[in-house]
Amino acid sequence: LGRKLNSALSQLNRAPVVDEKVVLDGLLKEITNALLEADVNVKLVATLRKQVKAKVKPALESTDKAKEVQRKNIIHRAIHDELVHLVDPGVEPYKPKKGQPNVIMAVGLQGNGKTTTCTKLAVHYQKRGFKCCIVCADTFRAGAFDQTRQSATKAKVHFYGSYTETDPVAIAAEGVAKFKKERFEVIIVDTSGRHRQESELFEEMKQIQAAVKPDMTILVLDASIGQAAEAQSRAFKESADFGAIIVTKMDGHAKGGGAISAVAATKTPIIFLGVGEHLGDLDRFAPQPFISQLLGMGDIQGLMEHMTDLARQNPDRQKEMTKAFEEGKLSIRDWREQMQNIMSMGPLSKITSKIPGMAGLMEGLAGEGTDEEASTRLKRLICITDSMTPAELDSDGMLFMKLDKDRKPIGLTKRVRRVAKGSGASIREVEEVLMQHRMMANVAKQMGGKNGMLQALKGMG
Ligand code: GDP
Ligand code: MG
Repeated sequence: LGRKLNSALSQLNRAPVVDEKVVLDGLLKEITNALLEADVNVKLVATLRKQVKAKVKPALESTDKAKEVQRKNIIHRAIHDELVHLVDPGVEPYKPKKGQPNVIMAVGLQGNGKTTTCTKLAVHYQKRGFKCCIVCADTFRAGAFDQTRQSATKAKVHFYGSYTETDPVAIAAEGVAKFKKERFEVIIVDTSGRHRQESELFEEMKQIQAAVKPDMTILVLDASIGQAAEAQSRAFKESADFGAIIVTKMDGHAKGGGAISAVAATKTPIIFLGVGEHLGDLDRFAPQPFISQLLGMGDIQGLMEHMTDLARQNPDRQKEMTKAFEEGKLSIRDWREQMQNIMSMGPLSKITSKIPGMAGLMEGLAGEGTDEEASTRLKRLICITDSMTPAELDSDGMLFMKLDKDRKPIGLTKRVRRVAKGSGASIREVEEVLMQHRMMANVAKQMGGKNGMLQALKGMG
């Protein structure tokens, strides 16, 4: 799937003149096939095709030969934008607010991952300082309350439910009222799912909604649902209007193309992706990686495109950087720039886990913390370099080291203390910057080799 698309894209790069034939017959056809294979709705794919064509038409009709490269860029961009547009309905989802109760209700068919996702959500908001709890309003499935009890206990989240009460509406209302009184901030109501869309289920959803008046109802969708997503999400939208979608099991084989149909059919944004069975396996949704995964392109491709984009914007600087990478001579300034690039690309964990060589490099930075914690830490390290002099920034970092006669570091120079003082950081943190810079310089040296990433980067340009 991805290979096909990649070959289509490189075909575009190789084509001496980008004429209408290459674009329309080659590239768009491959992309169309890739999307259809990933279970994206046929009508949506047709629309995408039409939009891309309309966008690139003026560029194609221009007779200016010098604009050829630009033409390619326009095509790349048009395709990218239209793909992102598929998963972005332009609607802001509800955001829980501190100091007040926020009632969130999960709906969806049985087995889609509601109960698991409810606990993941509680953990997510708990980490961000919200007082969280779960109400189990599933009286349909045997053992539903036990499942909530177990996972909520594991996550150290308060929960409410009953072994004897059989009316889900009563349980939901009681649980929410109790937790509101106890000043919980994120109150998550888990509901039953049934196996099929039945009128009984929808009636139950409506009644629970009327009873607890959720601030946000979330449709939980299994990534593998495929073409059925459209009808299913429409049916839920009609009876239990939801304001957000969570797509689960994105760690499996399914690429989640069906979810796109759900977004389009209901004009509702995806907010998170379930990426595993563990409590921490919940990723904030970002269009770019999702599309990459959908097309089987992977994030490495994303990184390279991002870098070639930067190269186009500033070719001279990129030449310098390439040289620095090749020689393994990376200045602290180069390090800072690379770090800023990486940070502009999306959640750190996603980037680092998918790029060889980057995981080890970033491990110390990201550690066990959340993406937000890692970004904060990284931003802080980057800020420290603001207190360095131009000479220090352009150096390989050895200025900061006391060296013995064999030029082996034996300690730190006074510069370290000055930078620490200037940036309000500790000596330890300045050392961390120097260490991170050295690690990246080493990776750069490895990548500069014949089969390294650099070669691939050049191929893309
Ligand atoms: P519910 O019936 O909608 O409440 O679904 P459950 O939460 O009970 O989940 C059904 C099954 O899907 C369980 O075995 C979960 O562990 C599994 N599951 C849920 N979310 C994910 C996910 O993101 N990835 C994977 N691999 N499994 C998941
Ligand atoms: Mg359940």
